[in-house]
Amino acid sequence: MSIQRSVVRALHSTHLEHDPDQETAIDRVMALGHADPLGSLLWRLKWSDDLSVQPAVLHLLVRRTRSHESLSMIQRVCALALHEYLHDLCRPCGGRGIVIAANGVKSRCSACRGEGTETPSPSRRAQRLRVSETEYLRVYDSRVARARGCIERASKSVSAQVLDLLGKNKC
Ligand SMILES: [Zn+2]
Repeated sequence: MSIQRSVVRALHSTHLEHDPDQETAIDRVMALGHADPLGSLLWRLKWSDDLSVQPAVLHLLVRRTRSHESLSMIQRVCALALHEYLHDLCRPCGGRGIVIAANGVKSRCSACRGEGTETPSPSRRAQRLRVSETEYLRVYDSRVARARGCIERASKSVSAQVLDLLGKNKC
C-alpha cells in the first residue's frame, strides 16, 4: 500500500490507539500533522476530500507564491493552480493512461501520452482567468507555473517527510 493511501486511510480510522510495538493509524495521522503544512493540507484536501482546509491551503499557497504582485491577482492565480491540482485527470482516458477502442483494442492515450494527467493549455487557463491568451502568456503564465511548482514541491515533500517521521527512510 502506498504511503499516501495508508495515511488517508488512517485519517478516516476509528481505531486511533497507540501501540508502542507497531505502527498504527495514529502514528500516520501524527506524521502527516508534523509534515510540511501546505503539503499536509493539500493531501487532506485532495485525497481525503476535506474541504474545510481549502481556505487554509489557498492562504498558505498565496503566501508562498506571492512576490510583488497584487494580492487579488495572485489569489486568482493560486485558485487556478489549486483547481488544476485537484482536477488533474486526463478527461479522454479518465486518468488510466489507456483508451479502449470500440473493437476492444487498448492503446496508450494520445491526449496525456499515457500519464493519466492533464496539463491545461494556455488558452484554457486564459479562459478560466477571464483574460486574453496574449495577456495570459505575458502576465500570468510564469505566475501559474510558480504556483504549480509550489504545490508540486509541497505535495511531494510530504511523502518523504511522512516516511521519515515513521522511520521508514533508512540510510
Ligand atoms: Zn489520457
